[in-house]
Amino acid sequence: MKITILGAGVIGVTSAYYLAKAGHEVTVLDRQSGPALETSFANAGEISPGYASPWAAPGIPQKAMKWLFMKHAPLIIRPMMDAATWRWMTAMLRNCTSARYAVNKGRMVRLAEYSRDCLIALRDETGIAYDHRTQGTLQLFRTAKQLDGIGKDIEVLRADGVPFEVLDPAGCVAAEPGLRPVRDKIVGGLRLPNDETGDCFKFTNELQRHAEALGVTFRFGVDIRGLRQDGNRIVAVETAEGEVRSDDFVAALGSYTPALLKPLGLRLPVYPVKGYSITVPIVDEARAPVSTIMDETYKIAITRLGDRIRVGGMAEIAGFSSDLPANRRATLEHSVEDLFGGAGNQKEATFWSGLRPMTPDGTPVIGATRFANLFLNSGHGTLGWTMACGSGRVLSDLISNTKPEIETTDLAISRYH
Ligand SMILES: Cc1cc2nc3c(=O)[nH]c(=O)nc-3n(C[C@H](O)[C@H](O)[C@H](O)COP(=O)(O)OP(=O)(O)OC[C@H]3O[C@@H](n4cnc5c(N)ncnc54)[C@H](O)[C@@H]3O)c2cc1C
Repeated sequence: MKITILGAGVIGVTSAYYLAKAGHEVTVLDRQSGPALETSFANAGEISPGYASPWAAPGIPQKAMKWLFMKHAPLIIRPMMDAATWRWMTAMLRNCTSARYAVNKGRMVRLAEYSRDCLIALRDETGIAYDHRTQGTLQLFRTAKQLDGIGKDIEVLRADGVPFEVLDPAGCVAAEPGLRPVRDKIVGGLRLPNDETGDCFKFTNELQRHAEALGVTFRFGVDIRGLRQDGNRIVAVETAEGEVRSDDFVAALGSYTPALLKPLGLRLPVYPVKGYSITVPIVDEARAPVSTIMDETYKIAITRLGDRIRVGGMAEIAGFSSDLPANRRATLEHSVEDLFGGAGNQKEATFWSGLRPMTPDGTPVIGATRFANLFLNSGHGTLGWTMACGSGRVLSDLISNTKPEIETTDLAISRYH
């Protein structure tokens, strides 16, 4: 079958790879000059099924009020609220009950665990390299209250069969020797040994080459303007360079997917939650992290990527803004310097922002729509890198009429109806 994929972020490219492997004739369109140049460009690098949880959780509304007034705040809400922002935030707050959290988390863990397994299989079959490491994630607690509060998370990890280790400060230093000089700031940690790390941009670029070898055509610099429908079918993608026709279409435009679907009468509740990262060249190997550290106090991830440290985090409700305020950079610098002081050269660091395509329930939207030949793979929010391979594989199975290896009915857009 001829399939057009809209978007060459990590989600569009993994979809293309699996669809081509399943024997389809695939074309990928993107406005950028290459793959992964928007949100998939400089994320925090965590492949973290162990931390797959929706942001909408019980107690979050109260915590959010506190975060808003912190100096190095993990959450920022800019005073420019429009109807779309209010609608999305209200939907997210409705998901903050224990019952909804359990359902949403269950879906996310299922997809994220499957995705990590798909990534390992893909790595084995292609030999793809992307500064990856398989040394787990360490969630770091600076207060006894944080450490005492992990009971619920541990229950969930146990129930889901996810291996974990609760560490004292010495255990944290053994896992991350660069933390030795700041041992006194740490009260403990929760380590997830099966989590991985890697550079999502490098991975997506490498996978593009593998997809091309399987026959996928990539067309870059193509601005997508809309979808032309005829009854319950999509006839063509309208682009600045004319129409592109095919049998099936996959929308994987990240935060820009809702705008594409709106004229068709499809409402996809995906909001662009902005985040920031810095990438710092390592100058002192002995002080540098060896894997990912999640600093629970600032909600910032510090990840080792080859000879660089990637520091990423913050959730900013600011619409489609792409500005780079100096105080956000200061928060990231503070977080890494406070734990791994002197490991990197901040003067040479690069600063970046990206828009997480977030659904209010944290789960991406994957699968069929009411248009017979239009499929979605979008809304991966905080965990698009973690969930990319599983999402691409599941989508390919659904389009190919092959039974997916995990349950997928609750991933489709129909769950919002
Ligand atoms: C600060 C930060 C840290 C993060 N850390 C992690 C992490 O550690 N682990 C993790 O799993 N996830 C993380 N994420 C989330 C992850 O990066 C995203 O979920 C993922 O990149 C989304 O991929 P995507 O392909 O859906 O979107 P994108 O990468 O944005 O791809 C969408 C593509 O569509 C194209 N496009 C859009 N509109 C048009 C148009 N009109 N015409 C043509 N092309 C168009 C864009 O050019 C783009 O290439 C993080 C995100 C941020 C912001």
